[in-house]
Amino acid sequence: MSDAPQPVVRDPAARDPALPAAVEIYDTTLRDGAQLEGISLTVDDKLRIAEQLDWLGVHYIEAGWPGANPKDDELFRRIPGELTLDTSKLVAFGMTRRVKGKVDSDDTLRHLVESGAPVVCIVGKTWDYHVTEALGTDLDEGVAMVADSVEYLRGAGLDVLFDAEHFFDGYKRNPEFALRVLEGAAVQGASHLVLCDTNGGSLPHEVEHIVREVVEYFRGDVAVAVHLHDDAGTGVANALAGVRGGATQVQGTINGYGERTGNCNLTTIIPNLTVKMGVETIPRDRLERLTPVAHHVAELVNMALNPQAPYVGSSAFAHKAGLHVSAIAKRPDAYEHVPPDVVGNGTRFVVSELAGKSTLVLKAKELGIELDGPQLNGVVDMLKRLEHEGYHFEAADGSLELLMRRATGWEQSWFRVESFRVIADETEDAAFTVEATIKVHVDGQRVITTSEGNGPVNALDGALRKAIGSRYPALERLHLTDYKVRVLDTQKGTGAVTRVLIDSTDGEHNWTTIGVSENIIEASWQALYDSIVYGLLRAQERGFPREDRSE
Ligand SMILES: [Zn+2]
Repeated sequence: MSDAPQPVVRDPAARDPALPAAVEIYDTTLRDGAQLEGISLTVDDKLRIAEQLDWLGVHYIEAGWPGANPKDDELFRRIPGELTLDTSKLVAFGMTRRVKGKVDSDDTLRHLVESGAPVVCIVGKTWDYHVTEALGTDLDEGVAMVADSVEYLRGAGLDVLFDAEHFFDGYKRNPEFALRVLEGAAVQGASHLVLCDTNGGSLPHEVEHIVREVVEYFRGDVAVAVHLHDDAGTGVANALAGVRGGATQVQGTINGYGERTGNCNLTTIIPNLTVKMGVETIPRDRLERLTPVAHHVAELVNMALNPQAPYVGSSAFAHKAGLHVSAIAKRPDAYEHVPPDVVGNGTRFVVSELAGKSTLVLKAKELGIELDGPQLNGVVDMLKRLEHEGYHFEAADGSLELLMRRATGWEQSWFRVESFRVIADETEDAAFTVEATIKVHVDGQRVITTSEGNGPVNALDGALRKAIGSRYPALERLHLTDYKVRVLDTQKGTGAVTRVLIDSTDGEHNWTTIGVSENIIEASWQALYDSIVYGLLRAQERGFPREDRSE
């Protein structure tokens, strides 16, 4: 071989022959993922997330637990009319029959059959301690509950996955019983035995070892799946270990959402398996959908995506080191573990006051902006001055782009703000309201609008949109997703200044804008103004919707 870097995307032929050729991806974002504190999904949100998962190409989408709550009931009712799945199979989740109960009079099982899902996944106990202590019954009945339930659901024409709760903990203490329960499910025709690390504390070497023993025990008669939680920080590593042990299905959630520390993160495990280990997961030509799906789902669950998320985070391929930047531009493969476009992400150069001119030139190139020598020096000086005042452009890519464009003489011509005023009112009954009035020139007209809001940004945003929204319908797609305020001590010691960061999205791009001032309303206004201008700039690139006309 020459000293050229090795190709990072593996040829499937280069896969370790001991590994399975393909691994199914089973998504449980809608059930297990929704257990995360702070997530509350509407039925509409769940339908939108399921569409994203199908577009991504996961094999199974576990939509919820029919009969467990009114929301999941409504979801299963609406799915037939409102969700078309091209790639994924729909799964309903539930549990085995009750202790000493009858399968044909069991409500949970009936709900599963009536859910309309072709595939069901039922949870049962495989840790002897849970059977005797939590269920208060004997081990034979523990096995029969699982076997009877699988038999009944198979008899109703459904594919059945058996979800072996607390499997790893149970197997460590009583492997004979844990295997007996699995056998009960397998004999009755379960398609998959799902080995769960419900408490999430197992480590990769344990998972690999135990999965291998189970796979060898069943000798390929039934597929083995792994469902792993991230309590030891090894959710993804455990899933890789499970696949090395012979598992052919991995369960997890988009962005690793889930109770406590979360589930095995599918947005990490999918590229690890496909790109690095040569194991097929989702269709190869859809890997580039991973980053857009991760961001879209984050938006639907209304939680900012961790910028440091492997592969899909906004910092995953962001380079700051000034010295290396020009080298990275020449040979990205020397500094990036995979080509970012493989997973739909991109290389970013992070610009701060510390950045050399070469970083700025690269950043301008990335944005398609031509900066000549004097303009470049102007930007360098302005960045230094503004960062000294408290701006932080590393965190505000939207404002940085506008600053660089303005350095070339560009200025937006879509609207001009003459003035604005914000009034906060606290009335006797303690209702606190904010009202903003704005005077704007748009389309040759002077427009004055007023809007109320729960805070100054909200009221100003409302007033500005009222003034220019009908002229630029593209603004309807633009949403502010986060608003952060930080009080800074100036180096001059002349008093505190406020830094405001606003995150925005138009469903396609996400951007952050910044404002800094001794006055929080002025700082907020700067960040809001830049957010709207940036959003219009992106809309202009799309040619604006038909109603918009740009000068
Ligand atoms: Zn779980």
